[in-house]
Amino acid sequence: MIKDFQMSNPDILVSEVGPRDGLQNIDAVIPTAEKKRWIKAEAQAGVREIEVGSFVPAKYMPQLADTLELVTFALAIEDLSVAVLVPNFHGAKAAVEAGVDKMSIPFSVSETHCQRNLNRSHEQMFAEIDRIIEMLDSQPEGKRPYFEVGLSTAFGCSLEGKIADQKIVAIADKVMQSGCDEVGLSDTTGSANPQQVRHLIRLVRSVVGDDKLTGVHLHNTRGLGLANALAALEEGITTIDSSLGGLGGCPAAPGASGNIVTEDLVFMLESMGLSTGIDIHKLLVVRETLAEAIPQESLFGFTADAGLPLGY
Ligand code: ZN
Repeated sequence: MIKDFQMSNPDILVSEVGPRDGLQNIDAVIPTAEKKRWIKAEAQAGVREIEVGSFVPAKYMPQLADTLELVTFALAIEDLSVAVLVPNFHGAKAAVEAGVDKMSIPFSVSETHCQRNLNRSHEQMFAEIDRIIEMLDSQPEGKRPYFEVGLSTAFGCSLEGKIADQKIVAIADKVMQSGCDEVGLSDTTGSANPQQVRHLIRLVRSVVGDDKLTGVHLHNTRGLGLANALAALEEGITTIDSSLGGLGGCPAAPGASGNIVTEDLVFMLESMGLSTGIDIHKLLVVRETLAEAIPQESLFGFTADAGLPLGY
C-alpha cells in the first residue's frame, strides 16, 4: 500500500520480483534492453509494482549491475511503483538518490544466514537500519521512499532450521520502533506451510499492528507456494510477491523453482473474484517474450502450459 492509485483500485497487489529475485538466482545475464522490454510489457499488462533490481555492488551480482538505469527507466512508466532491494546503508542511499518508490532490506531472522548473506550480525543490522532511517528522515518531503524490512528465513533457515517465534517477533518489533514503514515475511528457503503462514502473520501482526504487515514473499520450492499464498490472503494479506515464470531457483539445486509464479497467482486470484488489475492474456504474452530472451532457462508454472479454461 504505497501509492494512492493502489489504494483505490484492485483488491490485491501482485508485486513482480522476477527482475531482482529471479535474475539473481540464475547464471544468465540479460541485456538491459531486454529487461526494459520485460518491465514495460508487464506494466502494460497491468502489473502495478515491480522490483527492478538491487543496489548491491556489481562485483557480487553482475546480473543486477544495471539497477540504476532500470530504476530511471521504470520511474517514467505511469502508475508503476518502482521497488528495489537494498542490502545496507550505501544501497539505501543509492536507492533514495535514484528516486525509487519503495525499498526493502532483507533482515534474516536466522543470524547465521544474516551473517552469510549480508556479512552482518543482528546487532549490526539494527544499527544499519537506524542509520538508514536517519537518512530517510532527513529527506525533503516527497523524496522519502516507502521502507520495508523483509524478515527473511521467517519460516525456516537451511542453516539454522526453524527460528523461534519470540526472536522473529522481537526483531519485527524493534525495526518498527526504529521507524521503518512496514515489515514483510519472506519464505526465503521455500519451507513454509499454510498453517505456519497463518500462525506467523497473526503473531507478528499482534505486535506491529495489522496495517504494518501487509505483504508476503513466498517461494515455491516444495510446491506449497500457492497454498501458502491462499493462507496469507485469508489472513488479510494484500500484497503478494511473485515472479514471472517462477524464474529463479537455486543454481545448486536443479529443478528447484523460484518465487511463486506470477501467471498462476494471477489466475488463482482473478478466478476467485479478487481483482489484481492484471490482464492475464497480456501477461502470458510477456512470458513468451521472456522465454525467448533466456532460452537456456526453464520457466515454471501451469497456466501457460494448460491455457485458460473455457469461458474464462
Ligand atoms: Zn526470494
